[in-house]
Amino acid sequence: MRGIRNVLELARKSGVAVGHFNVSDLVLLKAVFSAAHELQVPVLVGASEGEREFMGVRQIATLVRSLREESDFPVFLNADHTHTLKSAMEAAKAGFDSVVFDASAQPFEQNARQTKEAVEALKTINPDILVEGEIGNIGTGSEIHQFAPDLSKYLTTAAEAKQFVEFTGIDVLAPAVGNMHGMSQKMVEGENKKRLDIQRIAEISTAAQVPLTLHGGSGTDDQDLQQAIAAGISIVHINTELRVAWRSGLEAGLAEQAHQVVPYKILPFAVESVKHVVLGRLRLFNHVTQASAQHRDETTSTLGEQQAVSKSLFTIS
Ligand SMILES: [Zn+2]
Repeated sequence: MRGIRNVLELARKSGVAVGHFNVSDLVLLKAVFSAAHELQVPVLVGASEGEREFMGVRQIATLVRSLREESDFPVFLNADHTHTLKSAMEAAKAGFDSVVFDASAQPFEQNARQTKEAVEALKTINPDILVEGEIGNIGTGSEIHQFAPDLSKYLTTAAEAKQFVEFTGIDVLAPAVGNMHGMSQKMVEGENKKRLDIQRIAEISTAAQVPLTLHGGSGTDDQDLQQAIAAGISIVHINTELRVAWRSGLEAGLAEQAHQVVPYKILPFAVESVKHVVLGRLRLFNHVTQASAQHRDETTSTLGEQQAVSKSLFTIS
């Protein structure tokens, strides 16, 4: 089975992205795994510090590892938004495949110094671990905000991205390119969509020369997401959309069976509701568009190689 580094490399070459979905309970984990397995596409499970605190760092690591081993399927675990070296190291020791070390609230130089230190410490624990760093401001909290904040002043530049990657030695970069954590109520209702700066993504990708992650993907315009993937985004994070689906599925399960107390008869409604969202997102992220096909033409030399790349990504066996 392919490792996480290999999966990302293939995604980049094929012009597709790996879906990253946050979980904070078994309902979400079952939904994410089941959707990816059904479509036979690799997937990243994410757990932020808060989500890890609820599930237990070693417990979530054990759950994901058992799914991967039992099914021989590329499901990986990421320690999302980790703000201290202590909790980053705890995740690495528990066997997480990657860590997002997020010191983006600090001034650029301090962020760069702390991230470099984290890369060195984490690779000492596990030389194969992927470390992601973040620059710019994409807001906090994967929840429903009353208003979407204006973060346009804090977008990442290509020069900053290059400097940050070279100085820190990170494997993956999370830039600010019009994305934002959480959703406004209007986004939940589908009236508003987040829009991305595609040109900026392309420039950052060329300058940084590492896979890029789009955080706060929930509520983003579908076409923008496809263009962003073609321009160099290799991982897309979805959290709030899943949380909204989790709640509505749970409410439906409770309403449907007003007197039911058996959790495994109520919770499948929530699993199905979340799975529906994950399936839609994974289909979009793994769909090869015209633009990404062109990108693939440039990165591979023969038709045979192209077919081998797409086939290996779409068909896992
Ligand atoms: Zn994020």
